Amino acid sequence: MICSDIPAPLYFLFSDSVPRLLYYSHIPTAAVVLLLGFYVFFKSSNLVSKILLSISIVFSLWLFLNLISWTNINSGVVMFVWSFFGILTSLVFILSYYFVYVFINNKDLGLLSKFILGIVLLPVILLAPYYLHEFDVAKCEAVDNIYYVYYYNIVCAVIFVSILILSLLKYRKADKSFKKQVLFLTIGIEIFLLSFFVTGFFASYLDNQGLSYAFELEQYGLFGMTFFMGVLAYIIVKFKAFNIKLIGAQALVSILILLVASQYTFAQNAGSIILTGITLALSIGFGYILIKSIKTEVQRKDELQFMADALAQSNDKLRQLDNAKTEFVSIASHQLRTPLTAIKGFVSLLMEGSYGEMSKEAQDALGKVHLSTERLIHLVEELLNVSRIESGRMEYKFENQDICILLEEMVESFEIIAKENNLSFEVKLPDKGLPQVSIDSAKMREVISNLVDNAFKYTKKGGVIVKAEFDNESRYKAPMGDENNVFKFQHKNHQENIGTNGYVRVTISDTGIGIPASEIPYLFAKFSRGKDTQRLHVSGTGLGLYVGKGIVEAHKGHIWIESDGEGRGSRFIVELPAVGL
Ligand code: ADP
Repeated sequence: MICSDIPAPLYFLFSDSVPRLLYYSHIPTAAVVLLLGFYVFFKSSNLVSKILLSISIVFSLWLFLNLISWTNINSGVVMFVWSFFGILTSLVFILSYYFVYVFINNKDLGLLSKFILGIVLLPVILLAPYYLHEFDVAKCEAVDNIYYVYYYNIVCAVIFVSILILSLLKYRKADKSFKKQVLFLTIGIEIFLLSFFVTGFFASYLDNQGLSYAFELEQYGLFGMTFFMGVLAYIIVKFKAFNIKLIGAQALVSILILLVASQYTFAQNAGSIILTGITLALSIGFGYILIKSIKTEVQRKDELQFMADALAQSNDKLRQLDNAKTEFVSIASHQLRTPLTAIKGFVSLLMEGSYGEMSKEAQDALGKVHLSTERLIHLVEELLNVSRIESGRMEYKFENQDICILLEEMVESFEIIAKENNLSFEVKLPDKGLPQVSIDSAKMREVISNLVDNAFKYTKKGGVIVKAEFDNESRYKAPMGDENNVFKFQHKNHQENIGTNGYVRVTISDTGIGIPASEIPYLFAKFSRGKDTQRLHVSGTGLGLYVGKGIVEAHKGHIWIESDGEGRGSRFIVELPAVGL
């Protein structure tokens, strides 16, 4: 039986009732779907890609048969292809469910679930040859058995809802990056199924209601698959699912080429055939260049990503090690401090003669034990300070104070050291006094006394000057590359911003060994000591400046070094914000 006198397949191409757009909805969609399905399958042949390939094949078959039903006017052929629609539609839905399940759970469906899906599909397959009982010559369509159509439509609707529930449950538990994958996948596949189902269902419903050309509606639904494929390509590129990144560009280029190639069907004269040929050649050429350049870029990005990942990993490990070490140092120092204090106490008692008179030699030996114990206690105290600063457990008691008072309290002990070392010592304080600073006196004393101690330690002739002054402007200039050096510790109760009342500056200058410019940026680092210190056999730990910087910065102040070079002395400067006169 023949439907009309328009010869097939021209009916499709020249029928006024069929927008050209519909033509594009079949071939490019099928091509893109198959291309993506096979590409993903060959790149990573795991279960997800196998299911994706099955969906693409089933769906393309549906598209192919559907195109035949549109372009053929032979009732036998139309009836034959029509009988497959129920099976193929149900299969697309069932496979989509399978795909989503495996993708989001990363495991295969259970045997029972597969069995249930099989049972659900069975009637659709078994009844397929019998459900078309008539042929409508006027519309050139087969007439479906409405109960059969209802059955598979209900199956599709249930699957649609199941995918939604499945994804929602997984979405709530997934981590951030996977949440996005689940979201995009679900939106993509649900829009695809919805457009496929709703348009198919309504087409058949409206057709049965006697509306002519209702089946055209169905064609628009096919664009849903292109959308789904776009989403899949996005997931693949963005989240590296399946480990394929080029797919987006390749799919795009293929669509372009297909669309240009399909122009041939409309080309009616030599001119347009040549033009189409040129466009096609250009599209292929540029498409090839595009894909190639993206490929190189992707490769480079991959390499960079790989290195960045490795770096982040080793950084993490280092941080863990550093934390563990800080913790260890803290515990060890606490354990060391108690016996050391006991040793120091008993040595003092022995030296004072509390346990009887001592010979001169014994006194001398005890003096050495006493000195070494002091050094050890100092070291332990410094290590404890390091761990306190690094773990943010250093506690400060800020009070408004005149720094001159603090300095005057320290003068006496420095004069003794100066005398012992045959060096001059001078403290220069302004006559009219200084504005107060908000400081933790004990900690600030520690910082300044370490700087003055160092000045004596690293000076063999000449002397040391400690000067305090007020300045409206800060003189601190962050050195280049200081970002790496800046202390970013979280202080438990650091000084809040104090406003701009000027600065109180304490400068400790000496005429000692000086510091080469190249060393200056590194001296505030932990355990960092200048190269001259080894040559001069000056004892030290390389922790004093590190701790000092931590403390000064918790005061919202700055500490820095100036030196005119080796052998020409150094200046250590501490600048603290003033709180007012
Ligand atoms: P330590 O003095 O225990 O080695 P510090 O952290 O106090 O540790 O000092 C770090 C380094 O800075 C010293 O090893 C030394 O090389 C250098 N340094 C500190 N003060 C001076 C100074 N006044 N003159 C020259 N170099 C100094």
